Amino acid sequence: MKVYAVLGDPVEHSLSPVMHNAAFRAMGLQASYHAFRVGINRLRDAILGADAMGFGGLNLTIPLKESAMAVVEPDETAVAIGAVNTVSFRGGIRGHNTDGVGASLALKHYGVNVKDAEVLLIGAGGAARAIAYQLSRDGAGIVVTNRTPQRGMALARDLGLEFRPFGEIEDLVRGSDVVINATSVGMHEGDPRLFDGRILRSEQVVFDVIYSRDTELLRDARMAGAKAIDGVMMLVYQGAEALRIWTGREAPVDVMEAAVRAALRV
Ligand code: NAP
Repeated sequence: MKVYAVLGDPVEHSLSPVMHNAAFRAMGLQASYHAFRVGINRLRDAILGADAMGFGGLNLTIPLKESAMAVVEPDETAVAIGAVNTVSFRGGIRGHNTDGVGASLALKHYGVNVKDAEVLLIGAGGAARAIAYQLSRDGAGIVVTNRTPQRGMALARDLGLEFRPFGEIEDLVRGSDVVINATSVGMHEGDPRLFDGRILRSEQVVFDVIYSRDTELLRDARMAGAKAIDGVMMLVYQGAEALRIWTGREAPVDVMEAAVRAALRV
């Protein structure tokens, strides 16, 4: 029996155990996946302990993804993003980041090809960084905007992208083929909108990384006739990619999606 886990603080509401345990069952693997609350000051102990106990692999979530860089041997993607969300123990303690691939595969899942598309990326946190890295590699033309300009400019500089001030957001939305919300705005009912959704058009794609609820942004997008994509498949594909790294096998994404949507009731 192989043991896998997600570490974070808080971690109680993580959907990773439900999603991965469903995948393990469908794949016929003798494995179980758990959530452990670990603070930054014990992260090294936890990762080394998991390695010592023969864990199959780990996922990391808030607030551990950046601190893990100093504990593991990060691969090229994790270095470029500056954060680790997946740890593997085959041939050393290696750090990976599957969030960007997850976003890219989620867009492909819904038939969206970002090559040469004008993409507006709203946000400059960990999720935005991972998405910016991967979609640049996919050939998207990315403009970044963020409430705190310094953070947005740092992301744009690190990845060679254009930054525009947050105050221009409505013009930026109008000029984009794909609008991505990579902020935490929309996680809670009553969050103020990032922009007036009535400016959206039916030819546009709106991708919201939030997966826990049907956000106002997604509702605005549907109202405009645009393609509205929630964050569930990004979550599923980042998990599927982690499973591939740990086991070398393709993951059952339909089973994982069903497990996540059943747990969320979305
Ligand atoms: P983070 O590092 O804390 O970044 C948060 C981002 O949201 C920053 O750009 C921040 O802007 C922006 N923001 C927060 N409140 C805002 C407001 N009122 N107005 C405008 N911008 C605001 O968080 P993260 O790890 O990137 O996660 C962001 C979201 O992505 C979370 O909701 C998370 O659940 C989701 N996520 C989803 C997946 C998935 O698989 N679907 C994966 C990872 C993350 P400032 O820089 O100005 O503070």
